[in-house]
Amino acid sequence: MNDLVLVLNAGSSSLKYQLLQPDSSLMLASGLVERIGEPGTRARTRHTVGGGSTTEGEVDAPDHTGAMALVLDLFATVGPSLDGVTAVGHRVVHGGDRFRAPTLVTSEVLAAIEDLVPLAPLHNPANLAGIRAAQAALPDVPHVAVFDTAFHQTLPPHAYTYAVPRAWREEHRVRRYGFHGTSHAYVSRRLAELLGGPVADSHVIVLHLGNGASAAAVAGGRCIDTSMGLSPLEGLVMGTRPGDLDPALPGYLAAHGIPLADYDRALNTASGLLGLTGTNDFREVMSLLDAGNPDARLAVDLVAYRLAKYVGAYAVALGSLHGIAFTAGIGEHSAPLRAAVLARLGLLGIRLDPRRNAEGPPERPITTQDSAVPVWVVPTAEELEIAQQALAALQALSASEMPRL
Ligand code: ADP
Repeated sequence: MNDLVLVLNAGSSSLKYQLLQPDSSLMLASGLVERIGEPGTRARTRHTVGGGSTTEGEVDAPDHTGAMALVLDLFATVGPSLDGVTAVGHRVVHGGDRFRAPTLVTSEVLAAIEDLVPLAPLHNPANLAGIRAAQAALPDVPHVAVFDTAFHQTLPPHAYTYAVPRAWREEHRVRRYGFHGTSHAYVSRRLAELLGGPVADSHVIVLHLGNGASAAAVAGGRCIDTSMGLSPLEGLVMGTRPGDLDPALPGYLAAHGIPLADYDRALNTASGLLGLTGTNDFREVMSLLDAGNPDARLAVDLVAYRLAKYVGAYAVALGSLHGIAFTAGIGEHSAPLRAAVLARLGLLGIRLDPRRNAEGPPERPITTQDSAVPVWVVPTAEELEIAQQALAALQALSASEMPRL
């Protein structure tokens, strides 16, 4: 079978896409429309066929419907054909505790995603706009929502509950949800395969370190803890987010005249690496570090220290640890950061192999043969995971609808 799945990831001003063959992991095309609906500027498109030729353009895209029309046009004029697409898989950031698995989009599902907007005001509205535009453009194809939060729905109550008043928890849905779930799902499963044991017996930690960053502890393929919480702000130090903070901070700052809206904006867009060094780009932080910049030194120490603390905590949560994976932009590419984290994990018997850490294939171990816990770089594949999950959900649906013989 050569099923084709179009994967869409709609942000507030961007629409990213990939056309994939989930069974063979083949990517037939990828691209994005950015600057959608931004006043005074035209949207930019980039469409790449396979690993080869790229078409770029500047066009009008006032909203996601306009962007989706551009995408269809690019597939029609440049190729490959979208004829025979089996499904469209949509990345949806917040599924609350309602969605534990990929779900066929219906009007009830759209309403439920809308109902979750208060929990993800920066993301779910854009995801919804993307789904509606794609449904209008491709009405005869099933659309499947794949949620960033779903993989973390297996967290036990002691890991997802915040010790806050009952009314907050029950009336306002306050709890840990976790994000980056498709990445954690793919990488934890892949690491278990690479370690050679059955996924069902593996205890692993995944460190997803991109502009956003989160850690996950996964036991037997089920996530048992993760560092992001109610929102993506909690946990690790990120590009523009601070990670863990004292909950007293908003009240303290309010008493000093900083309104809640400024607080929220600063924590989402002006904290983390940016707040510490002036840039949220980790490559630039490393250039500053190489030039002897003390802010960059502190930032890298802080990032590595926080990561090592989470690994220690998750090793305890898991009870035993068979492997650790670094993934996403920083995790896959920054050998110095990986070395700084592992240098703090001697207690776990982890021994870095500097040569393997510095170079090798994208997917490789970076510890010595005698390291008590193997540590790997595992490139993430979120779009492939979304495509595979979307297809599996449809196949499960059609199997359950088959008449019994
Ligand atoms: P996003 O969360 O936006 O998907 P990515 O996973 O693409 O983020 O990661 C972006 C981060 O990865 C940026 O901070 C970037 O500087 C960093 N990065 C990319 N390549 C390298 C590299 N070669 N060395 C260090 N950091 C890198």
